[in-house]
Amino acid sequence: MNGEYRNIRKLPASVVNKIAAGEVIERPASIVKELLENSVDAGATRIDVSLENGGAALVRVSDDGCGIPTDQLLLAVASHATSKIRDAEELSHVRSLGFRGEALASIAEVSQLLIRSRPRDADAGAALEVSGGKIGQVRPCGCPVGTTIEVRNLFFNTPVRRKFLRKPQTETGHANESFARIALARPDLHMTTQHNGRIQHDLPATDRWLDRIIALFGQELGESLIWVESEHDGIRLRGYVADPSISRGNNRMQYVLLNGRHIRDRSLQHALNEAYRGLLVSGRYPIAFLCLEMSPELVDVNVHPGKLEVRFVDGHGLYSMLLGTLRKKFLTTDLTARVSSDDATQRAATQGHDREAARRHRQATIEWARGESPPSPDPSRPSPNLEASPNPDVPPFKPFGSDQPPPPPATVATSADAGEQSAATPASRHGGGMQIHNRYLVTENEAGLVVIDQHALHERILYEQLRERVLNGVLESQRLLVPEPVTLTPSEAAAALDARELLDKLGIEVEAFGGDTVLISSYPAMLANLKPAEVLRQVIEQLVADTRSPDRHDMLEELLHMISCKAAIKAGDRLSPEEVTSLLQQRHRFHDTHHCPHGRPAALIFTNEELEKRFKRI
Ligand code: ADP
Ligand code: MG
Repeated sequence: MNGEYRNIRKLPASVVNKIAAGEVIERPASIVKELLENSVDAGATRIDVSLENGGAALVRVSDDGCGIPTDQLLLAVASHATSKIRDAEELSHVRSLGFRGEALASIAEVSQLLIRSRPRDADAGAALEVSGGKIGQVRPCGCPVGTTIEVRNLFFNTPVRRKFLRKPQTETGHANESFARIALARPDLHMTTQHNGRIQHDLPATDRWLDRIIALFGQELGESLIWVESEHDGIRLRGYVADPSISRGNNRMQYVLLNGRHIRDRSLQHALNEAYRGLLVSGRYPIAFLCLEMSPELVDVNVHPGKLEVRFVDGHGLYSMLLGTLRKKFLTTDLTARVSSDDATQRAATQGHDREAARRHRQATIEWARGESPPSPDPSRPSPNLEASPNPDVPPFKPFGSDQPPPPPATVATSADAGEQSAATPASRHGGGMQIHNRYLVTENEAGLVVIDQHALHERILYEQLRERVLNGVLESQRLLVPEPVTLTPSEAAAALDARELLDKLGIEVEAFGGDTVLISSYPAMLANLKPAEVLRQVIEQLVADTRSPDRHDMLEELLHMISCKAAIKAGDRLSPEEVTSLLQQRHRFHDTHHCPHGRPAALIFTNEELEKRFKRI
């Protein structure tokens, strides 16, 4: 259509470099990464980073590495010029961080770059300036052994890209992340970084990796770390994962070093999350610092311009190795005890028998999943398709669980105990409670004042009830008067029909209806407040997303958590006094209601002693 497009031309080097710069240099953090990698490759023992204005005004990296001989300075900034590999054969077993030979050329294209360098055996150094790709003269200069590279005014000649830079604070954050990745990989180097003259990190060299992690991320995190290691088929995995009591709202604190290079790998992240299933609330991500070592032939690092993503020869094997290692570790680690180890009052709350109960509980699910659990007490139990399945062993489900008529509002402490426990127990044992800020329940027990997260508690209760019923095969399911058609994608419809057995267990009965539509014909009574189609969609979403681990135990647990979280009252929901009372009563029926299903505390206790102390009575 446009005649101008007909002439094919070879692009001038400067345009090629600008294009390459677009790939590699996104923001100051990319420069920090590339320069740090060069310093590491140069055998530095000390590296200092300094930034001005988020790195947009200046990124300077100085090292005491091998330096660049004066006669090679021009080559260093030429594109595809590298000292690190000689031929394609060497590409298959690179040990250095860099090898593409385009970082300095790309950076120099979009900034004002100044290199000063002096090799160890040289009496003097030399300097070279490149501004927006225009290469200056190499001139002698006095400088210490090593290399200092200054990158000023990033994107000064590409204003569009400069506009994409964020606030200095945000850019500094990204730059610090680049710094941390290298610092984690090389605890043996002394590394510092500063912004606008203020030190952000000063990390002395150490031979203890944990010291480096603590120096970067703090003592509290350091104390929560659990050592893991394994070796398989020449692949070595070592590192730390955080106790589930400490987690993050995103997966950025998952550091994986492959042969000393920080990588992001979706499959390994998935394995990590999988290992923590049942230990973290949904939406929380585990923290990990892992080192993988393997022969360079087992991985291709040349698939991503920033070399952040790699391709493993046996990705599946690696996935299983990571997941298996963590699972084994968690099964032999008393995580329940650690959950509260940093908090004495919570420790008092989690008594020994709770822990034992939690352990038995976990064991029961695992046995059930393996098909080892004893047969259901009543083999002739009604199938989930029937109206309901009364079972004398399991109390029928009530949204808030109380079988008693609601007691009067909870202002009178003892009235809340009108339920099953009141007869035996002293009046003060489970006092009444009240809701505050539509979020928390406040009540008392003999130890002191208890503040409960209403969502976490209800989620926990629902989870326990659902689980109990599902495991006993007595989840009441109701036939829908009019079966509900749900239109899915072809793969979702197939997954739904494939998973009919699992869905049956959850009280959801589906039938094929033709095309990509399935019919929901039965639905659990206890989820009456959620729309069947919506629940089915969510369940199917999990099923489809999770084809990697068709593990019955995991899937069922995950679905139970998901459903109980959805069905539970939310923070912000106003509760009637009866609902408050009922929730508080339910609290005593289940073990470990101190924690929501995945370990976040559901309740905080302010002991009498602590209160007395704070009021200066003792
Ligand atoms: P690469 O790192 O992929 O080789 P670069 O463009 O980052 O490509 O660097 C080009 C060359 O410049 C490197 O191969 C190295 O020889 C030299 N060089 C860059 N930075 C340093 C440094 N800090 N110390 C010593 N040599 C360096
Ligand atoms: Mg490099």
